[in-house]
Amino acid sequence: MIDYKLHIPGPVNVSDETYQAMSTPVMGHRSADFVELYQACQPNLQKLFQTSDPVFLSTSSAWGVMEGAIRNLCQKKVLCCMCGAFSDKWLDVARRAGKDADPLQVEWGQNIDPDELKSKLSSGEYDVVTLVHNETSCGMMNPLEDIMKVLREFPEVISVIDTVSSFSVVPIPKDDWGIDVILTGSQKALAMPPGLALFSVSERAFERAQKTEGRGYYFDFLEFRSNHAKGMTPSTPVIPLIHALRYTLDKIFTEGVENRQKRHAELNQMVHQWVAKKGFELLPKPEFASKSLTCVRNNLEIDMAGFVTTLRDQKKISIDGGYGKIKGKTFRISNMGDETVDSMNHLLTNMDEVLTEFISS
Ligand SMILES: *Cc1c(COP(=O)(O)O)cnc(C)c1O
Repeated sequence: MIDYKLHIPGPVNVSDETYQAMSTPVMGHRSADFVELYQACQPNLQKLFQTSDPVFLSTSSAWGVMEGAIRNLCQKKVLCCMCGAFSDKWLDVARRAGKDADPLQVEWGQNIDPDELKSKLSSGEYDVVTLVHNETSCGMMNPLEDIMKVLREFPEVISVIDTVSSFSVVPIPKDDWGIDVILTGSQKALAMPPGLALFSVSERAFERAQKTEGRGYYFDFLEFRSNHAKGMTPSTPVIPLIHALRYTLDKIFTEGVENRQKRHAELNQMVHQWVAKKGFELLPKPEFASKSLTCVRNNLEIDMAGFVTTLRDQKKISIDGGYGKIKGKTFRISNMGDETVDSMNHLLTNMDEVLTEFISS
């Protein structure tokens, strides 16, 4: 049993009520009871995704759909917008799926520049673009609205947008902005256990998929669509997580989507103020800082591994000591999911107490 609270940027802390929702007895996935559960989630999902397209449930983590999107959509070449660990990895995944793929690389923590994207796409080589909206490894949120404006100028290019750590944190109007494929996962901003990915696909993207060979079976968008019409998933889904989803959606709409977004912005601001007060700096430029987590530069050069371990062992709170090549040089704090002013104050007070040991030594 873990005896500490998760404040890492995923998986995030799961509430007792969510776990309780998951303990509903399993049913047949072709039964009327399942169809009722699946269809009950749809209206709220479509509202939350801001789309009139169906929202699909994939029993996989987000990477399943991220790889699947490439297999469904690319006939020519993928352009991968890369600005951190997850977006960098997508290039590797596209190539492993046997596709031609190019990087549009910026330094970790920098944003993708819409003008640079535009000049890349003007070559006419690409038919798919991958973009991570909120680069969780760097706490950087890309200017998605401006990026989508550029992408709309290239109707032959299908956009695949990862919103794993930003979904429900900020408004992402899929239909209005013309996003073709939007995807998220259960264990980040939605604060459910891992194992479920959620995604929605535009009509344009379905048309592309129809003419794309080698889609495979498990992530075939057309399989998802034909099963969706019956209120079902292609294969046996992770039913307990769909119960958790129904509960989570009810909770989100009871709070109100705008209130939820306001809460995240406020809690994120609390962390930013703490960072400034301590003399730390954000990794990204402040205007591109994420609203769901904070990635802090270790400019005070404290013993990061020691700090993270002490916070966990003494205060029973787990934050992250940096991802991949910026491990130790940064640390990350999540304010996703069910966090409140009280829970964030608790976190920041405890970080204060532990930090004094590390700054004076
Ligand atoms: C966590 C994360 C992923 C990977 O999700 P899995 O659930 O491990 O597949 C992808 N993209 C972003 C932005 C993430 O934060």
